[in-house]
Amino acid sequence: MANARITELVDKRTCLLEELGSLTQILHGSWVERYSVCTRKSCRCHQGERHGPRYYIVVNEAGRQRQRYVPLSQVHVALEGIEQHQRLQTLVEEITRINLELMKERSHEDA
Ligand SMILES: [Zn+2]
Repeated sequence: MANARITELVDKRTCLLEELGSLTQILHGSWVERYSVCTRKSCRCHQGERHGPRYYIVVNEAGRQRQRYVPLSQVHVALEGIEQHQRLQTLVEEITRINLELMKERSHEDA
């Protein structure tokens, strides 16, 4: 006899995996906005009107933190990517809970 709870959990997991597969813009990093001063001494940036903002995403590459420049036209894509990474983490936690419960349910079936 099929365990209805197992069917429910597997269906739920299928939905979550589908959503996970839709997160195509994922970026794992933190957002940085920077204002800068240039080398021209006469420039107004030296009077407080600094250039910027310029946008960067700080990512981990082989254990080192790297700032990667984000072109202005890609800012919305990058911010969406950071949000998608947060959603990814939530999905992984939900799938973990389901898989743990499935192990428990299935161990009952074997008994
Ligand atoms: Zn300047």
